Amino acid sequence: MSIAVPAPTSTDPQGSSKDDVQVEAQGSGGQKRKKDVAPTTEDRKRFSNVSYWAIGWLAIAHLVALTAPFTFTWEALAVTLVLHWMTGSLGICLGYHRLLTHTGMKTYSGVRYFFTTIGMLAGEGTPLDWVADHRKHHACSDQEGDPHTPRDGGWWSHLTWLAYHTHNGDRKAYLQRWAPDLYKEKGMRVLDVLFLPAHIAVTGILFGIGYIWQGMDLAISLVVWAMFLRLVTVLHATWMVNSVSHMWGYRNYETTDDSRNNWLVAIVAYGEGWHNNHHAYPRMAKHGHRWWEFDITWQAIRLLRAFGLVWDVVDYRNAAEKKAAEQANASA
Ligand SMILES: [Zn+2]
Ligand SMILES: [Zn+2]
Repeated sequence: MSIAVPAPTSTDPQGSSKDDVQVEAQGSGGQKRKKDVAPTTEDRKRFSNVSYWAIGWLAIAHLVALTAPFTFTWEALAVTLVLHWMTGSLGICLGYHRLLTHTGMKTYSGVRYFFTTIGMLAGEGTPLDWVADHRKHHACSDQEGDPHTPRDGGWWSHLTWLAYHTHNGDRKAYLQRWAPDLYKEKGMRVLDVLFLPAHIAVTGILFGIGYIWQGMDLAISLVVWAMFLRLVTVLHATWMVNSVSHMWGYRNYETTDDSRNNWLVAIVAYGEGWHNNHHAYPRMAKHGHRWWEFDITWQAIRLLRAFGLVWDVVDYRNAAEKKAAEQANASA
């Protein structure tokens, strides 16, 4: 059963819609662009476009994570859970996705870079690459040009799409096409080169803390669990949004893509599993639209808003909902 609100058609990379409020809230970056799907999956799948970097990175992360059963400690488990939530929910869902990609709220520059930096520590690529790929996903969802649609295969949408560059050999042109606003920012380009050094630094810090705290066993346990197992489990949770949430689940809205709401993905990916809602209203920072669609990242955003750290949060679907919320706030 669908909620009786028509879903907007979304072709803009930042996810604006035909809804006047959403376009207005988007600002100057929201002008309509010509449909541009290149490179397609077929274009990308060639030997010279293989990303050895991504394959090596993901292979090492998975191999080290496999040693987790032999290096378990309760201390490392606790640190892993905290870092999982920080990098997965606050970093990827809030920072990379709802803030950077879709500009679903406004905040101070320092706060924006804080969430961007912890998002980078989720190991899912630099902010520029992630945002560009995800905006292209929205612009071409389950059509030609989508970087990771299950229509090209379930495993492709989950994982193997990362084996090839999403650009076609010219990364700069790709980033300028899909993330022009971020590419102009010097800070984002600095983070772009800090991806690997930042991960090496965090690994070293975890090792050092473990060694000083209890010695070599905890040092290794913290590196394996809080670094590598945490990376791998956050990665698969995010990847499930791309694969599972485009194949299985229910739909609240009739969208032009295959997006679904999937409760399992909503749990493991911190609210991102309400993916049909998100494709219908991409800029909306609140992904759960029915009362029981719990979205823990939205709770974090609400808390930040209560402390005045974020504002102009897009928590409405259309002009009428925006007005109703403003009136409710005024009379409160
Ligand atoms: Zn999607
Ligand atoms: Zn999105």
